Amino acid sequence: MNAPEAEGISTNARLSIKASQFTESVIREMTRLAIAHDAVNLSQGFPDFPAPAEIKEAAREAIAADINQYAITWGAKSLRNAIAQKVERQQGMVIDPEREITVCCGATEAMISTMMALINPGDEVIAFEPFYENYGPDAILSGATPRFVKLRPPDWRFDPDELKAAFGPATKAIILNTPNNPTGKVFERAEIEQIRDLCDRWNAYVITDEIYEHMLYDGAVHVSPATVEGLRERTITINALSKTYSVTGWRVGWAIAPPEVTSAIRKVHDFLTVGAAAPLQEAGAVALQFPESYYEKLSADYLIRRDKMLGILENAGFRCFRPRGAYYIMTDISAFGFSDDVTFARYLVKEIGIAAVPGSSFYRNAADGSKQLRFTFCKSEKTLKAAAERFSKLRLA
Ligand code: GLN
Repeated sequence: MNAPEAEGISTNARLSIKASQFTESVIREMTRLAIAHDAVNLSQGFPDFPAPAEIKEAAREAIAADINQYAITWGAKSLRNAIAQKVERQQGMVIDPEREITVCCGATEAMISTMMALINPGDEVIAFEPFYENYGPDAILSGATPRFVKLRPPDWRFDPDELKAAFGPATKAIILNTPNNPTGKVFERAEIEQIRDLCDRWNAYVITDEIYEHMLYDGAVHVSPATVEGLRERTITINALSKTYSVTGWRVGWAIAPPEVTSAIRKVHDFLTVGAAAPLQEAGAVALQFPESYYEKLSADYLIRRDKMLGILENAGFRCFRPRGAYYIMTDISAFGFSDDVTFARYLVKEIGIAAVPGSSFYRNAADGSKQLRFTFCKSEKTLKAAAERFSKLRLA
């Protein structure tokens, strides 16, 4: 057989056009750079403190009890029941665990499975910008045309007219992430109602990623779009164990959706991954029954970390956009006089020993994020202290 080159075809041309349209994750790359430079990693959002003892014990017990083969493809019954009970307890929404839940390998897979279950060629999907970087490749892989609506600092509100203009006959869905990564915005009921009215008018779905639902500050209230009148039937709610129980490496997440949509998501999910790790699903079922005090403490602990991190960053010369939820701080880096965010992020990781995520990775046009950097504060006191020490070497322009 001839080598492709001999036939005049470049090796690249044999690869998927879709895969060539996006780059590797900048967030994950920053973690690799942090390791290479022995830097304090404030880039990728994963806790560096232990997961709750009870969830770890439940996982050990499940493995010992030989729950080591495939769970039902759309999720172990115990976990689906626990998800339904938690949603009813905390959101007052009744869901049918037999027909409305698909357990996936993390919220990441829940999102791509949902998109692949909904999207046809020519469909448009609206996302707020800055956006969590996965949504870009998710759109490309599922074949959707993304449309972006800006969230503007300092309070990250959107312009209702801009939102209205983004909707049209081709709109299939809008992606919401509340509390929001990277901005820390928590969408208010009135904002979600505006979204609802447009979705009604154009018959569009709402795909909502609520993985940071339990990290709320300054009196912010989490409004789950599916609980807003008129949205239940057109909403797919995505969540996971990862952030709420500090087990990002377990890869257990889920999508809640009306039965018809769930059937499509389940089929895509089954052929993509078959299922999430069976013993970890059992451990998840235990965790989802934790008492309310667990969630109160989680949020209170994160509030302390947020305030500490705001102090550290402001001391070092960053202008911070104070987050009302999630565990990131978006900052303005103008005071340091660097040409752009990527140059500054590389300097920080190599010379100062701190890894952060360049703002441009949250925007379609790099220039829009070139004066921003995202720091995570889901870190132990020791890590935050080390960051403060390292920042003392940083100088303003
Ligand atoms: N959501 C986290 C972040 O934004 C990490 C996501 C990931 O790397 N899978 O940093």
